[in-house]
Amino acid sequence: MRLSLTQIGEDGCQIERDLDMDWLSQVLTGKLTSDFRVVGEHRVRINAQRMGLDVYLSAECVLRLQTECSACMQDFELEVPAVFSLTLKPRPQSGQASPDDVELSREDLEECFYEGDVIDLTEILREQIILALPMYPRCSPDCKGLCPVCGIDLNQKACDCRRDEVDSRLVVLKTLTKN
Ligand SMILES: [Zn+2]
Ligand SMILES: [Zn+2]
Repeated sequence: MRLSLTQIGEDGCQIERDLDMDWLSQVLTGKLTSDFRVVGEHRVRINAQRMGLDVYLSAECVLRLQTECSACMQDFELEVPAVFSLTLKPRPQSGQASPDDVELSREDLEECFYEGDVIDLTEILREQIILALPMYPRCSPDCKGLCPVCGIDLNQKACDCRRDEVDSRLVVLKTLTKN
């Protein structure tokens, strides 16, 4: 998915597209800590505005995914909103970066560059989708996780193991520091 600067008219440019399922699956696997699977179709809405050579891009897409809870290891479905806005500027020629560029950057908007007069929306979407994904997905904020001693799913059953009221990652840390 590419956007040419000439496509962005006076009133900006709206693009609405279905995301390619194979592409999305590919984005979701690989470098991530958790394995996310795509559930259903995904539509992305992109709005582009031009101000001189700057391009303001905003996009939204709700990702419907399935993954494993990082606490109890059960599969569950989750919705991840991928909403972002970016300012794109033409990539400065090397050695010509002006000090104005620093002043212009706003904290709430991430700044990116485009090359030539074409914006690679696919690459931007890939980055933003990965950023939107939770590092430690949880099936619910109240998920009790697994017992660090016997491994039972504490959401479904209780056990009589003696354990401190800390999460399992801290238990590991404690054991490590003891030795
Ligand atoms: Zn869980
Ligand atoms: Zn137990």
